[in-house]
Amino acid sequence: MQASRVRVLGRSLVASRPSVVPRLVLQASRFASTTPAAEGASAPRPPPKSSLWKRFLQLTGGVTLVTLAGGATFYYFAQRDKEPGTQLPHDPSKKTLVICGSGWGATSLLNSLDTADYNVIVVSPKNYFLFTPLLPSVAVGTLSPRSILQPTRYVTRHKKRQVTVIEASATDVDPAKKTITFADTSEIQGEVSTTTIPYDYLVWAVGAEVQTFNIPGVREHACFMKELEDAEKMQRQFLDCMESAAFPGQSSEEVKRLLHMVVVGGGPTGIELSGELHDFLEEDLRSWYPELAESVRITLVEALPSVLPMFSKQLIDYTESTFKEAKIDILTKTMVKEIKEKSVVLQMPDKSIVDVPCGLVVWAAGNTLRKVTRDLMSKFPSLQANRRGITVDECMRMAGASDGIFAIGDCTATSYAPTAQVASQEGAYLARVFAQLARRDEAVARIQELEASAEPEAKAERDSLAKRLAKLEKIRPFKYSHQGSLAYIGSDKAIADLPFFNGNLATGGVATFLFWRSAYLSTLFSLRNRTLVATDWMKVKLFGRDVSRE
Ligand code: FAD
Ligand code: NAD
Repeated sequence: MQASRVRVLGRSLVASRPSVVPRLVLQASRFASTTPAAEGASAPRPPPKSSLWKRFLQLTGGVTLVTLAGGATFYYFAQRDKEPGTQLPHDPSKKTLVICGSGWGATSLLNSLDTADYNVIVVSPKNYFLFTPLLPSVAVGTLSPRSILQPTRYVTRHKKRQVTVIEASATDVDPAKKTITFADTSEIQGEVSTTTIPYDYLVWAVGAEVQTFNIPGVREHACFMKELEDAEKMQRQFLDCMESAAFPGQSSEEVKRLLHMVVVGGGPTGIELSGELHDFLEEDLRSWYPELAESVRITLVEALPSVLPMFSKQLIDYTESTFKEAKIDILTKTMVKEIKEKSVVLQMPDKSIVDVPCGLVVWAAGNTLRKVTRDLMSKFPSLQANRRGITVDECMRMAGASDGIFAIGDCTATSYAPTAQVASQEGAYLARVFAQLARRDEAVARIQELEASAEPEAKAERDSLAKRLAKLEKIRPFKYSHQGSLAYIGSDKAIADLPFFNGNLATGGVATFLFWRSAYLSTLFSLRNRTLVATDWMKVKLFGRDVSRE
């Protein structure tokens, strides 16, 4: 199976293309120049000036028309997004579906859900969806923070029936009573800041939180790369290190320390962030801090023998060689033991302990379950003992909670990796499940209505509904379809492990970087975000990144 896989490094694919294209162009031009001569025709006379003018006008007219049509279409869709129409009101006869979270799983579910079937309530401490794959770009100022956020109301206001959005954290679930309690954890609170509501169905999509392994100093001295505020904090601290290093009279040792950036974790988050930091240094800091740029060092620390274990060997080698060229040090088999205010304590491969001075530490060492998820699991002690997350069946139903609670995304323990791709497919799948459950519940209600009647028509309808109900009770299990793994590695290069026919295509390089950008641009959930991100990319190409510290 493994041997039959196609593995090609993108560099060789990309390199082979230019030779094909000029050959085709050459053949075409040869054909164009030899054909009239072969026919014995005399050289064609140049078209009269008036005809050239006509052609120019035709071309200009065509371009203007296409531009106008494109602009009008863009304007139409932008306005349609901006001005949502009227919605159906809440319907007391419909069941209540509570969705906890506004991340990948929850937003994908909301996007696909037919809200006419339910009264939907969304509970999340963030009133927005965060496009996590582009978070490292925010940390270095390639993208502005707002470009990768989508307010949840922008989604819910476009749904058929009104959806209630509540900015709060779920604090407790009572599966027996089918109630959920949530609290307003924001800075400003009204008279009521905690409440309990009943649900018929609950979707648990609260994601995970940063894993610190209780290593001393991580929470106090490191930046994380999980939420929007983490990226903003990292950007501020990074620029603070630059400015402090530029302070007059700083010793060369202190400058070296302040400009040593340590990224912990060689998973995709740590790799992408190191690549982005390198781009910032090469493309901008060299211009604005010419006397300091040479002293900036980036070190990536990984406890395992290699970085990016989920990618193929060629791509790991390609990433390592790209990092070597970019002068990013990779320390594998090295474990962070403690983070101090001005240094990081490392256990080296030979088990020796080294105290390495540094200005900034970014902690990208993986995730763990949220406390609220562990509390929910503790309600089913015999069935929910997996430390990785909630045990679900093949239809994403929480084991022990019958069909009352569904769980998706990073808070679950499944055979799939905790990725956005998995969470969003699970969300879209649940939307189909809820459509089927709505039909099932309608059939059950109608059968109950018909129970009282002895009419032959009623009996016939009941029998037919019973058959339909038997079909509706069978829910197709969730099936994950892997679309490939992509990661940006800096220097305008990306790597991709893509499913290709029955095998696998491993590719890396500049073409993959363009593919990475277009893939993420198309994955962004809205026209507004696509436009903002594309504009940010153009702005950075034209004017560079901002180095002012807010
Ligand atoms: P999340 O998207 O984390 O959403 C959880 C939601 O729950 C949030 O809205 C949160 O505010 C809310 N919440 C938290 N606590 C509560 C509570 N008590 N009550 C109610 N709501 C709550 N994956 C990929 O496939 N490709 C990538 O390129 C990629 N890049 C990434 C880059 C970074 C920097 C990071 C951090 C992750 C990346 N991932 C990527 C992983 C991906 O982001 C996660 O797998 C994905 O977000 C999981 O989706 P989720 O819905 O389970 O959780
Ligand atoms: P991760 O769990 O994939 O990697 C964390 C790394 O940190 C591990 O390799 C671990 O060995 C290392 N580590 C842990 N403790 C350490 C210590 N004390 N010292 C040194 N190293 C230590 O975490 P991640 O990169 O944040 O990714 C989380 C999830 O999000 C994964 O499922 C990943 O696939 C997904 N993700 C995907 C992409 C992408 O596809 N481009 C990008 C980011 C995240």
